[in-house]
Amino acid sequence: MKAAALRIARPETVEEALELAGQYGQDAKFIAGGQSLAPALNLRMASASLLIDLAALPSLKGISEEHDRLIVRACTTYTQTQAHPKIRGGLPLVVEGIGHIAHAAIRNVGTVGGSLALADPAAEMPAMAVALGASIKILGREGSRVVSAEKFFKGLCETDLADGELLAEVHWPIAGWEFWRFLEITRRRGDYATAGVILLGRRQPQGGLDVRICAFGVSSRPSLLPKTAGALVEATRSGRPFDEAVADACSELDIDGDTHTPAETKAHLLRVLLARQVTALTEFYRERL
Ligand SMILES: Cc1cc2nc3c(=O)[nH]c(=O)nc-3n(C[C@H](O)[C@H](O)[C@H](O)COP(=O)(O)OP(=O)(O)OC[C@H]3O[C@@H](n4cnc5c(N)ncnc54)[C@H](O)[C@@H]3O)c2cc1C
Repeated sequence: MKAAALRIARPETVEEALELAGQYGQDAKFIAGGQSLAPALNLRMASASLLIDLAALPSLKGISEEHDRLIVRACTTYTQTQAHPKIRGGLPLVVEGIGHIAHAAIRNVGTVGGSLALADPAAEMPAMAVALGASIKILGREGSRVVSAEKFFKGLCETDLADGELLAEVHWPIAGWEFWRFLEITRRRGDYATAGVILLGRRQPQGGLDVRICAFGVSSRPSLLPKTAGALVEATRSGRPFDEAVADACSELDIDGDTHTPAETKAHLLRVLLARQVTALTEFYRERL
């Protein structure tokens, strides 16, 4: 199938792109890498009479460092992000996680901003943004605002972006996690995650551990598991077994099934991944705490 007839606008500035979006309202869609939107248009699962192409806008491309953050502009591709020396130096989790997204041909064109705007709950980039405490800069005709990734993802393919707004930048804190691990289960290599868990750990200056856990692919959006993380920290303090601490993890989420995997299986996979992550964390800190 092919998409219904539509026009493509190639604005030269972000302001022009926002103006067009305001003018055309629901009839217009932004397009970045087109790796998700183009198939959806072809299958008639999405429609638009105007596509506003963001991919060539210079102010939406590239990576820079500002204070304690790395700024990835929206139309930077996965491949450019993964190869960038500052990302390789400061965000090794992101380098690893991008390797799990689709295949090289898609990573060469698909963009960081496109993935976040799409907000697929089984996608790797939104999960990494939530896990690492990234923030998202949004531009609209009225100005700009910055939202935490945790608040940006509202539900299944639903974000904080209002009509006509575009995602401009992702701000990643360089937070110096000592332990980071990306784990996911997929049906085939390069697929979206059936279930995934990111675990981060670092020693606190005053002693003890700081732990962050993000689960994805198992509910309507990537979610931090603060109670489970707290129970893990408590277990390291008291010497209790870690597996007891993670036993209740599934109660922190509304686990949803999808077309291939029922919710019970997802819950089981989440427990399996958490157990693997916790074993790795225990090994890592055995000699260090
Ligand atoms: C075969 C295949 C396998 C894939 N496997 C995976 C996978 O395993 N994991 C994964 O995460 N992804 C996967 N993807 C999706 C891929 O990562 C997409 O590139 C990504 O989800 C969207 O990025 P894009 O730049 O192509 O966005 P587009 O397709 O251009 O746009 C996607 C949506 O975001 C909107 N949008 C884009 N940019 C902006 C912006 N800056 N501001 C506001 N709205 C914007 C568009 O209007 C559209 O609604 C796969 C895709 C294919 C075709």
